[in-house]
Amino acid sequence: MLKKLFQSFRSPLRKPQQHVRTTPEVLSSSQHSLQRSQFSRYAVNIVERLQTAGYQAYLVGGCVRDMMLGITPKDFDVATSATPEQIRAEFRNARIIGRRFKLVHIHFGREIIEVATFRANHPIDDEDEDSNQSSRNESGRILRDNVYGTLEDDAQRRDFTINALYYDPVTERVLDYANGVHDIRNRLIRLIGDPQQRYKEDPVRMLRAVRFAAKLDFGIEKHSATPIRPLAPMLRDIPSARLFEEVLKLFLSGYAEATFEMLVDLELFEPLFPASSKALEQNPTYTHTLISEALANTDLRIKQNKPVTPAFLFAALLWPALPARVLRLQERGMPPIPAMQEAAHELITEQCQRIAIPKRFTMPIREIWDMQERLPRRSGKRADLLLENPRFRAGYDFLLLRESAGEETDGLGEWWTDYQDANDSGRRDMIRDLGSKPDATGQGPRKRRRSSSGKRKRAGVDGAE
Ligand code: ATP
Ligand code: MG
Repeated sequence: MLKKLFQSFRSPLRKPQQHVRTTPEVLSSSQHSLQRSQFSRYAVNIVERLQTAGYQAYLVGGCVRDMMLGITPKDFDVATSATPEQIRAEFRNARIIGRRFKLVHIHFGREIIEVATFRANHPIDDEDEDSNQSSRNESGRILRDNVYGTLEDDAQRRDFTINALYYDPVTERVLDYANGVHDIRNRLIRLIGDPQQRYKEDPVRMLRAVRFAAKLDFGIEKHSATPIRPLAPMLRDIPSARLFEEVLKLFLSGYAEATFEMLVDLELFEPLFPASSKALEQNPTYTHTLISEALANTDLRIKQNKPVTPAFLFAALLWPALPARVLRLQERGMPPIPAMQEAAHELITEQCQRIAIPKRFTMPIREIWDMQERLPRRSGKRADLLLENPRFRAGYDFLLLRESAGEETDGLGEWWTDYQDANDSGRRDMIRDLGSKPDATGQGPRKRRRSSSGKRKRAGVDGAE
């Protein structure tokens, strides 16, 4: 009750935002293509029960947007005027999660429906009375985001117009506060409110703009695109654990190749991957080809429902940044193999300051890279031992990737392809034939040469395994 009073007192003081109406445009069932039966019946039941109990409740966000575009939604989210405690009181299978901002997960076997109470943005000059701390830092970034609000507040605090559509499966009406339907029709990503201010509040929205543009094949509306380049450096202040989650969404949603192009173009790649970005400047053709090929393979595997691992992806994203470091250490007198080890260690440590890659992925990154040193050394029993190595497949795929980006390996990928296909005696012959080759004896890694023309040998790269 107190909260309600406070909200109605505070609302008129707030600066009105562009694009958000106080009364929504209401689309009846004949004015949109959505059908109740297309939505998760659990999510629809939750909305019905909350409404019956006297609360407002809607399907919202990605599921409404995707349905309007004929895309199968990843999950179904519900927004409601009921508080988490009130939601839990209605559903036995409900669990409150999150400490900073409470959400409710309602479980139906393996399906989980997320139910969130309407939220409001902190007003710009709001101070937290208890702690006397501001809810924003000096650049306007929102540090706490935990105020309940009205339905209009909830629409206003959402990022893009296309994400602020509310569907009521009972009346089959769509509430559109921010001209989201118009932007869906025109295939545009548009921030709600003043773009610069909204990016400053949460710089991750710049990454989300790119993610949705790539996934939906939408353009970023001009005023929403223009502030991105100047504000891109703000990503450096985002906690590295959050960036890890976002980067996975960027590169593991099936549209990584297009996403990468857009990140580079909008200067968002540099704050995420500073060393790789430098390699992209110094050695553009090779770096660009290697990363794009790796991402294209990942996209393909996702479309084919094959597993993908973040380790392979990060190994590829960072690999072009390695040679310059190895060289620097060698110039200081370090022998090649320790220089490679040290460079790998340094690079990963630095990268983790930006993006907190968990150890369960940094270990396999190192193993994939180590494998690149070992694959040329095949004499005696070495080749068979490598084949038994659990990282062999990833290491071999990575070798093919390097070759397809123009690295000269003297036919090593093809050799390994043949070796895997050969029978026992064929394998013995292959090892014997190596005797004449200086490189196969275990004398250390070959110096890698780059194709300056950027001409690509298309190898059957199988991507991340
Ligand atoms: P998908 O789940 O398909 O990637 P989504 O739109 O559902 O897309 P989520 O990250 O699940 O994206 O977020 C759910 C909703 O929460 C969004 O549609 C948006 O309205 C809101 N939202 C999420 N992140 C932000 C943010 N950083 N700023 C403002 N609103 C956000
Ligand atoms: Mg979602």
